[in-house]
Amino acid sequence: MSIYLYNTLTRHKEEFKPADAKNVRMYVCGPTVYDRPHLGNARSVVVYDVLYRLLRHVYGENHVNYVRNITDVDDKINAAAKANGEPISALTKRVEGWFHDDIAALNCLPPTNEPHATAHIAEMIAIIEKLIAGGHAYESAGHVLFRVESYKDYGRLSGRKLEELIAGSRVEVESYKENPGDFVLWKPSDAGDDPSSVFPSPWGAGRPGWHIECSAMSCKYLGDDFDIHGGGADLMFPHHENEIAQSRCSAPHSHFAKTWVHNGFLTVNGEKMSKSLGNFTTVKNVLDQGIRGEVIRFALLSSHYRSPLDWNEKLIHDAKKTLDGWYRVIKRYYDILNNQSFDNSELDNSEFRAALYDDLNLPLAISSMHIIATSANKIIDNQVAATSLFKLGKFLGLFSLTPDEWFKGNHVIYADTVNFIVNAPEFTAEVSVTNPKIDELVAERLEAKKSKNWARADEIRKMLSSQGIILEDRPDGTTDWRRE
Ligand code: AMP
Ligand code: ZN
Repeated sequence: MSIYLYNTLTRHKEEFKPADAKNVRMYVCGPTVYDRPHLGNARSVVVYDVLYRLLRHVYGENHVNYVRNITDVDDKINAAAKANGEPISALTKRVEGWFHDDIAALNCLPPTNEPHATAHIAEMIAIIEKLIAGGHAYESAGHVLFRVESYKDYGRLSGRKLEELIAGSRVEVESYKENPGDFVLWKPSDAGDDPSSVFPSPWGAGRPGWHIECSAMSCKYLGDDFDIHGGGADLMFPHHENEIAQSRCSAPHSHFAKTWVHNGFLTVNGEKMSKSLGNFTTVKNVLDQGIRGEVIRFALLSSHYRSPLDWNEKLIHDAKKTLDGWYRVIKRYYDILNNQSFDNSELDNSEFRAALYDDLNLPLAISSMHIIATSANKIIDNQVAATSLFKLGKFLGLFSLTPDEWFKGNHVIYADTVNFIVNAPEFTAEVSVTNPKIDELVAERLEAKKSKNWARADEIRKMLSSQGIILEDRPDGTTDWRRE
């Protein structure tokens, strides 16, 4: 059985055939580290995390090379550091740390390689030199620009014609450009620029354009030809179009990335969530409200990755409700489940597997999990269904907590799959009642019930309920509890 992926380049869903099944290569554009990631950025990271997990499942954990860069030199970074009145290196280091913390809280696996743009300036310069030598780039007014007319396939990925782009003024029109569509490969520094954003080059001190960064880092870690290139749909033009032009012109024998994958937007009231529109919520904002990373992750996976997904209260509420139900199912068998090891070959539900192999159809995969959970609930002893649900959930990066942590935890964020555990004080939401105190009150209520002191029993239930603690009386006379 093969994976099928929708390829933006051909506009078709295609059977995915890596050039080398022992070394499947994927590059995804990573964050520009000038501000904390918002939920739209997180959607992109989470989607490619599932694709990475699927590739590892099919080709083996050690046979997938997933590169996601850190853009740590960029105009936006210079502007933000200036506005904050801090050195660029302090800003980029801090924001990169935030990025890692926030996506770890969403249970994302670290990529195989995470190169920094600032560590690959020499590679960028080498590509620019090749482009100039081949007539694809030229120096003008201290800049080096890519000559778009020198690449006949320019616009193929985005389906845009150069003339239309220029007519629609979608490109910056500067006097030093031969053609308004030409884009920057290297730009000169301004006097007073922070020295950590100034690099020597054959064209004077300056910094690279954004697009050349990804061409250089993908080529260095994956070679001229690789299997998958991903990013959000907003990157299709001009970023990815320009990456293709640069990479193919500097290595004419290559096809660059074969399959181009683009995730749809996370929206707010139908509008793309973005920094510039100001309609964004950071991942940290949501975590700070006491919403678990796993709930955010599941919410972000709940629609098809290519479709828009609107962020709202209902989405979070539904994600939490589903996960509550699933955790309840696995809770019954948790001791058994947790002691089993699930090797990479087990994805034993054929509907789930078929859905994921079919262009990562997550809504369908998730609906097969709902069916399994329903069947687990119908039969009192349904360990088989619970095991299946547990495995599939683990595969999707869920069930990182024990049921006790899920239902009774203090909303501390845990991350089981990555190198860093996020349990810094800043991630711990205020907790008004401690667990031992709740246990004590629950025991007192049971005693009150035994001695027919219904008023006190009721009072305790109400008191706990006002703190978001839900009591669940069992037929055997015991009481369990959970946080809302
Ligand atoms: P940026 O740091 O703005 O370059 O974005 C990092 C990644 O997040 C890119 O792959 C973007 O395409 C993606 N992205 C940004 N905003 C959204 C959004 N609202 N929905 C989905 N992906 C987004
Ligand atoms: Zn990129």
